[in-house]
Amino acid sequence: PAKLPTEVLETMQKELLDLNGSHVSIMEMSHRSPEFNTVINSTIDKARKLLNIPENYKVLFLQGGGTGQFAAVPMNLIGRTGKADYICTGSWSSKALKEAQKYGEANMVHKKLEKYGSIPDPSSWCLNPEASYVYYCDNETVEGVEFQFVPETNGVPLVCDMSSNIFSRPVDISKFGLIYAGAQKNIGPAGVTLVIVREDLIGKALPITPTVLDYAVMAKENSLHNTPPCFAIYAVGLVFDWILQNGGVQEMERRAKQKAATIYNLIDGDYYTSAVDPNCQSHMNVPFRVKKDEGLEEKFLKEAKALGLLGLKGHRSVGGIRASIYNAITPEHVEKLGDFMKSFKENNP
Ligand code: PLP
Repeated sequence: PAKLPTEVLETMQKELLDLNGSHVSIMEMSHRSPEFNTVINSTIDKARKLLNIPENYKVLFLQGGGTGQFAAVPMNLIGRTGKADYICTGSWSSKALKEAQKYGEANMVHKKLEKYGSIPDPSSWCLNPEASYVYYCDNETVEGVEFQFVPETNGVPLVCDMSSNIFSRPVDISKFGLIYAGAQKNIGPAGVTLVIVREDLIGKALPITPTVLDYAVMAKENSLHNTPPCFAIYAVGLVFDWILQNGGVQEMERRAKQKAATIYNLIDGDYYTSAVDPNCQSHMNVPFRVKKDEGLEEKFLKEAKALGLLGLKGHRSVGGIRASIYNAITPEHVEKLGDFMKSFKENNP
């Protein structure tokens, strides 16, 4: 299950010993060198171009993953009123809420869902006009629940975890106060987290905020306050090149919809079942069950693996099958899975 396009891996291989005639590897070079400065600045420029990021937003590369941002978001933003609102549609946003409660009064704006697979009706959300921000996760990777709309917050800054679907479709950045994404699904290897944050929200961090997670410090120093994950940032730049060469986020969206449809069309509600409402089915992660039978699912995974269809086991917290069809997965990969699903069903009635 490629999470990096093959062309990107090949470029990395080619450039590994000598980046652009510098005679050093990206893994050896100083993060203060002019060469690395070019790498980080061009990566930021490409992100701006791909997502049309307005001038009044900073693009940061931080460490600590998505989980680091579960803490960094409240530490940097909750100080204004001490309060924040959370929409919890799956495991990751629920973890984010729990983390935020360490730093202020963070509330869920709807009744806690007994099982994940739907988005509570926005008209039932109890949004606090005094909240410092409203938080949600655009694509819940484990449960396969993806928002198909941007929540309305009456002027309260909107914060979004896009770790598993960023750069898979166009997004109107101006509707958000902050967007973050761990790189390791759609835009690069693990080790770096992209943060896009509106400038007026920067500079109000709680005094306890660790310096490496303080957006003001990192914005001022172009993410180079301390040693950054140079290789991961370089790789993200190559993935951005690949997206630009492949038609940008509009084309990523077209491919994602086509790939997702290949699988959803086979989920018949009887043999293959989905626990997710059709209006929020993810285009990136498609979890499903095989006759709700664990034995059959084990057989499915084993036979799939033998065909080179890897990484299909559902998240350890929910089981079942999950097809993660990130940008780097080609339509041909997904066709192959679809063909296997058909033949498995025929052979195991
Ligand atoms: N948010 C989402 C949507 C995720 O999918 C993940 C990880 O899979 C995380 C947050 C946690 O990210 P990390 O493992 O980088 O801490």
